[in-house]
Amino acid sequence: MVDIAAISGALGSIKAAGDIANAMLKLRDASAILEKTVELNRIILSAQQDALAANAAQAALIAKIGELEKEIVSLKDWKAELGRYQLTELAPGFVALSLKKGEESGETFHRICADCASNGKKFYLQQHQSGPYYDEFQCGGCGSKMGISKGTPPTRADDYDEEWLRVRD
Ligand SMILES: [Zn+2]
Repeated sequence: MVDIAAISGALGSIKAAGDIANAMLKLRDASAILEKTVELNRIILSAQQDALAANAAQAALIAKIGELEKEIVSLKDWKAELGRYQLTELAPGFVALSLKKGEESGETFHRICADCASNGKKFYLQQHQSGPYYDEFQCGGCGSKMGISKGTPPTRADDYDEEWLRVRD
């Protein structure tokens, strides 16, 4: 934040110092000159302190602007990165960001966690379990697991064909 008080304080002190210096030119009494010299030194010191405070405030502002510029670049990069993905529903109630066709840039197809992406973080969804009827994915960031059913396994009765049952009987 610009330290307006420090800047105006420094300017006021410089003006007061000039007034005192002008008044000193008219003085002939040594004790009056000494008194004005002490006052002049006090005012110059005050002006220096105000100038230092204003300088520190300016340096802090420059540093903050630098941080914000980096953050803007980072947000623009992230927005461009998110543009490579599309929100897809992999199963009812389970959404993820899937890499769009044509956005591979040499990468293999993959999905990232939608929850982590909404918090500005990119974490892959890794296949944790794979089976004929069920797949499970896990986010490498938040650790959430998402299961996808790929169909119903046949019931035990479906496994026996009639011929087999006849043999058993
Ligand atoms: Zn996640």
